[in-house]
Amino acid sequence: MAMASATSSLTILRSPSAFVSTLSHATKMLMRSGSFQPSNRGNGEVRKEEVVIVGGGIAGLATAVSLDRLGVKSTVLEQAESFRSGGTSLTLSKNGWSVLDAIGVANRLRSQFSQIEGLVIRSEDGKQLRSFNLLEEDPRQDQELRGVERRILLETLAAELPKGAIQFSSKLARIEPTSEGDILLELADGSKLHATTVIGCDGIGSPIAKWMGFHEPKYVGYCAIRGLATYSDGQPYEPRVNYFYGRGVRAAYVPVSPTKVYWFVCFNSPSPGPSTTDSSVLKKQAKELVRNWPSELLDIVDSTPDDTIIRNPLADRWLWPTISPPASTGRIVLVGDAWHPMTPNLGQGACCALEDAVVLAKKLAGAINSKDQYSVEEAFRSYGSERWRRVFPLTVRAHLVGSILQWENPLVCSIRNKIIIPKLASLKPMLEHTNFTCESLQEEKQ
Ligand SMILES: Cc1cc2nc3c(=O)[nH]c(=O)nc-3n(C[C@H](O)[C@H](O)[C@H](O)COP(=O)(O)OP(=O)(O)OC[C@H]3O[C@@H](n4cnc5c(N)ncnc54)[C@H](O)[C@@H]3O)c2cc1C
Repeated sequence: MAMASATSSLTILRSPSAFVSTLSHATKMLMRSGSFQPSNRGNGEVRKEEVVIVGGGIAGLATAVSLDRLGVKSTVLEQAESFRSGGTSLTLSKNGWSVLDAIGVANRLRSQFSQIEGLVIRSEDGKQLRSFNLLEEDPRQDQELRGVERRILLETLAAELPKGAIQFSSKLARIEPTSEGDILLELADGSKLHATTVIGCDGIGSPIAKWMGFHEPKYVGYCAIRGLATYSDGQPYEPRVNYFYGRGVRAAYVPVSPTKVYWFVCFNSPSPGPSTTDSSVLKKQAKELVRNWPSELLDIVDSTPDDTIIRNPLADRWLWPTISPPASTGRIVLVGDAWHPMTPNLGQGACCALEDAVVLAKKLAGAINSKDQYSVEEAFRSYGSERWRRVFPLTVRAHLVGSILQWENPLVCSIRNKIIIPKLASLKPMLEHTNFTCESLQEEKQ
């Protein structure tokens, strides 16, 4: 089932193939650094920008900071009025931290968020099925896993950008190639700008991906309710991820900091359901789903401020070789969930968005600064093929893991809880997929 997307307001004026052909005749434009110019709302002028990033989420901001570190200025268009606060938290693994180290913000975040030491898996009645100590399991002894508040991650990245680089309340409504080889972007408020390069970081419902011919992400049959509990006098939990596996329902909680605990409940649902925003309804539903489960779960949900509770139908998109469109079309490229939405079962969506950001920034900055004929289009194609090899297998693996964890047949769940998890489950794949090396971008800038 295709997930509802936010694409309806995007007008498609010309197909990507026609657009590529327009671009291929365009003169190669030299990128130049430039600070953000004020919006042209209402005065009818068309502003000119070089690199425009659509979407100020994790992918968009990490790409903007990475480019900035390499001497390339960009403008970020974000539809929201400010950073999303409802995003609660997420966990970042070693590969995500490696990117945050490379762009020079990791230590500011490490000082605020606790290092997770291990994982405990229990059945819905609280019986421990398995536990892992992260460092003991890892031959390299360098695992790093922390829960991070999304808002703080975004604010930390944004603080690295020049003043005015992010333009809020700027929803992309229309994209159109111009005869000069530029890309015309029209915002929902009617203002327009011309860009020479567009980086689509507009998330799972990406209008730009749709325009490029990608099918909508597919709903995978279960939803997540998540929240961030607050304990002003200090939270009482060990620094471990605690999983609880039931039948068609699973839950988890993760201490994020000395006062905050992130949790989620995933439950099977034949349809994505209504976009419920009433957090008191969501809180009630989460508690109902884990009603007879260990009481700490109910306590954590009860300790959650309403404004941090959200519900997401989960969806992904498999990037089949030769069938799916490439990551780029001319001078337009996709990054993060806009390109490869994956289910959160491996905790890798944001980590991969961060990886994309540095890989793309290096290739794009290389093309912009290159004295030879290495073009932006080539840089984007090279990014697409390098990153496809990384993200496609992870998308599939996350999907399969989720299917097992959402089993609801009692016999199958009993085999899972009595044999598969206690005797066969291994952290080895997780330890392998968090390997990603990334050199500092700050040193490259000099
Ligand atoms: C339940 C759940 C749990 C998760 N847990 C983890 C985890 O533990 N670890 C992990 O690594 N990942 C996790 N993820 C995945 C992670 O949240 C995403 O992969 C990540 O947020 C992708 O970042 P992004 O910047 O690509 O997209 P987004 O975060 O969705 O950002 C897209 C941005 O684009 C803006 N935008 C959209 N359309 C427009 C437009 N037309 N004009 C202008 N702006 C626009 C949006 O407002 C938004 O700010 C989880 C996801 C879910 C649903």
